[in-house]
Amino acid sequence: MADIDIRVTGRAGRITFTRPQALNALSYDMCMAVDAAMRLWHDDDDVALVVIDAEGDKAFCAGGDIAELYDTGTRGDFEYGRRFWRDEYRLNAYIAEYPKPVVSFMQGFTMGGGVGIGCHGSHRVVDDSSRIAMPECGIGLVPDVGGSYLLARAPGHLGEYLGLTAGRMAAGDAILAGFADHFIPRDQWAGLIEMLEASGDAAHVAAHALPAPPSALGEMQGDIDRHFGGGTLAAIIGSLAGEDSDFAQKARAALERNSPLSMACTVEMLRRLRAGDGTIRQALDREYRFTWRAMEEGDFLEGIRAQIIDKDRNPKWRHAGAEMPGADVTRMLAPLGANALTFEGEDRQMKIGFIGLGNMGAPMAANLAKAGHEVTGFDMADVAVEGVTMAGSAGEAAKGAEVVITMLPNGQILRAVAAEIIPAMDKGATFVDCSTVDVDSARAVAAEAEAAGLLAVDAPVSGGVGGATGGTLTFMAGGSDAGFAKAKPLFDIMGQKAVHCGGAGAGQSAKICNNMILGATMIATCEAFALADKLGLDRQKMFDVVSTSSGYSWTMNAYCPAPGVGPQSPADNGYKPGFAAELMLKDLRLSQQAAESVDADTPMGALAQALYAQFVEQEDGKGMDFSAMLPRFEKRHRD
Ligand code: NAD
Repeated sequence: MADIDIRVTGRAGRITFTRPQALNALSYDMCMAVDAAMRLWHDDDDVALVVIDAEGDKAFCAGGDIAELYDTGTRGDFEYGRRFWRDEYRLNAYIAEYPKPVVSFMQGFTMGGGVGIGCHGSHRVVDDSSRIAMPECGIGLVPDVGGSYLLARAPGHLGEYLGLTAGRMAAGDAILAGFADHFIPRDQWAGLIEMLEASGDAAHVAAHALPAPPSALGEMQGDIDRHFGGGTLAAIIGSLAGEDSDFAQKARAALERNSPLSMACTVEMLRRLRAGDGTIRQALDREYRFTWRAMEEGDFLEGIRAQIIDKDRNPKWRHAGAEMPGADVTRMLAPLGANALTFEGEDRQMKIGFIGLGNMGAPMAANLAKAGHEVTGFDMADVAVEGVTMAGSAGEAAKGAEVVITMLPNGQILRAVAAEIIPAMDKGATFVDCSTVDVDSARAVAAEAEAAGLLAVDAPVSGGVGGATGGTLTFMAGGSDAGFAKAKPLFDIMGQKAVHCGGAGAGQSAKICNNMILGATMIATCEAFALADKLGLDRQKMFDVVSTSSGYSWTMNAYCPAPGVGPQSPADNGYKPGFAAELMLKDLRLSQQAAESVDADTPMGALAQALYAQFVEQEDGKGMDFSAMLPRFEKRHRD
């Protein structure tokens, strides 16, 4: 191919980009050629290392070739882009995990797609001309090709700063931020490459390196951490707005150019990566969630139009500045189900038993089936779930399964079901209970399972029926590392986040605390709507303000209790659950029982429990969604 020269010279697999007139922009075909060569060399004993360089002085690789992406996208064909990104990201992970040294020489611009090729290897060389950047937010994407992985690991909040401002890193900056390893003057590169080819020994790279030059970025670290550590785009914009320094002015100007949706998602991705496993695969998986949706639901096509096609530099982004509903970020980063990015060896199908196919269990099981797993289900009630084969008993559903998941109403039922399925399960299989139950039942069931040679995980969820259907649940898990690791790929299908909270019962403890907050917040949201009604405030206006102001919450933004306002929720369906008020009462009781047992003072939780008890037991709340507190408050007056 004209744009790339692939060969073996001596002991080195050699890749040279030969498209300097286009700043070595990376096309799909170039990506696939790199991929094929590296796979070939993987098992070739004659190839000891891989050396990647590029012709021309201006750029190692200034990014992905986006013209084709734009052409196909504007014609409504999103598949080309999705395939390009999918295969490119797989290559990025392949480079990062390559068992042989990968040495890259990055002169001039290395941006976007170039970072994906040049910055994941084991020996990354820069010189005085190097300018490395992740400018994706400027075209309505997020830092991708594994860039979010590097940004999340950069010191302090350099990651947010570089991702949001698209700032360019010189050699010293790139070494500081973890995008490069060695500073070697350009006039030594040719000789060094010859040595690498002749010897196959990557140790020559470090032997040529000079001390890293000073980093301008490092000098700004204090300012960067102070302004870019707020955890949301709104907090960052707010912090910069409050200061008139040169730093704040320049950063503000940079942020004003870029897509707010892309920037808000970037901040959230970095936050989640630091909180989660933070592997390159996880980073690429999250990036793909965004890019998969970027043409249809994001700012990508508009960004390319404004920057590259019409060059008017005046993009009409979907959102303005800090006004970013949290729900839009959540939607862009929600799991892709069957479309999720997979890596080598990960497409393996599992045999799963799923017991308890109610409001939550049914859509969770359906998502597992949709992702290609073989799911056998059982429920006491006569239910049918798409893609799930129904068994005649819980024991039958559990038999032969690698993982059995339960999603049941309470601890007593869980204990009864566990007594039936544990003896039926194969040794070494994993029992994952996702119900919300008392900590004692969770621990007792885990102990029984472990005694029978099983792995056990208590993994209650947050996110409601909407989260179960959309695959955006949060799992809070307790149990061994091995159990969590086994269940994690399934959590990734059914949810957007899984936190390993500790040993057996730790997931339930986290859940109880979470739902104590949820119960109190729903009551606060409902009583505020009832107050707003009486003050003559329009409900839509109330939502518009609160959902983007400091009173925002999941109950307001994602599960609004007012019908016809905000996203679809049980309020739009006559308050049919959803999450039933009696289940909320159950969780609040569990929280108070737990608080009692450890002598914790929880007055708001106690009041929330009392109000839900009154609602369920005396005010026809049973069978209603827990957000039906709103019509309850509407009917009431001050005592
Ligand atoms: P649900 O009542 O809709 O579903 C429970 C299912 O379990 C029912 O279909 C029932 O027939 C089945 N079941 C009961 N006993 C059984 C048995 N012995 N064998 C097999 N199946 C049996 O409840 P849900 O809303 O799906 O909630 C399930 C769990 O998830 C609860 O622990 C709840 O607290 C928790 N949870 C619910 C939500 C929510 O929004 N609904 C959110 C987070 C957590």
